[in-house]
Amino acid sequence: MYKMSPKPLIAAENIQTRLNGLAHEISTAFDFDIIVSILTGAYIFTADLSRALAKIQSEPQQKEIAFIKASSYGASTQSSGKVKISGLEKLELQGKRVLLVDDIADTGITLQRVVQEFLQRGAKEVRTCVLLNKQDRRTVSFAADFAGFDIPDSFVVGYGLDYAEQYRTLPDIWTLEEQ
Ligand code: 5GP
Ligand code: MG
Repeated sequence: MYKMSPKPLIAAENIQTRLNGLAHEISTAFDFDIIVSILTGAYIFTADLSRALAKIQSEPQQKEIAFIKASSYGASTQSSGKVKISGLEKLELQGKRVLLVDDIADTGITLQRVVQEFLQRGAKEVRTCVLLNKQDRRTVSFAADFAGFDIPDSFVVGYGLDYAEQYRTLPDIWTLEEQ
């Protein structure tokens, strides 16, 4: 059984503040054509980030957005190490500069795999953006180009992130503790 930490690890206001900073970092460094977001965990982060970016971009109407699914977890807090990617059929990436957005880089396996896949499909450039980064958990050499917060090795939920499909709609990010 798990229970939520007594206080949020990252409060909603702090997420929004960091998000604006992140949007500035991205728009200064990378003129992308399309955002590709990994469902389901990144859905809230992507909605907020894409609007923060649109506020400061010169031609926001030209930016595309698309979603894929990648799963390796199931109803567990441990990565299986295998990544299933779906939703690639309609994705047109040839010659495009892609901003790949995910909720969290943990082992790094998911993003490493998806970047590889996009380059094979003809993307001109792929840069990655995660809200959360668990550096200590890396099992492959992967570094996100843009990261919101470095967090310790604990399982987190809220702001789109789930445990067995629960907790996603919470506005703050919480640590899940074993009890
Ligand atoms: P990786 O492939 O980097 O190990 O894992 C990436 C995926 O695992 C993330 O997109 C996320 O869905 C899931 N994940 C990793 N750590 C956590 C965590 O602390 N909480 C939740 N809810 N999901 C996580
Ligand atoms: Mg995910």
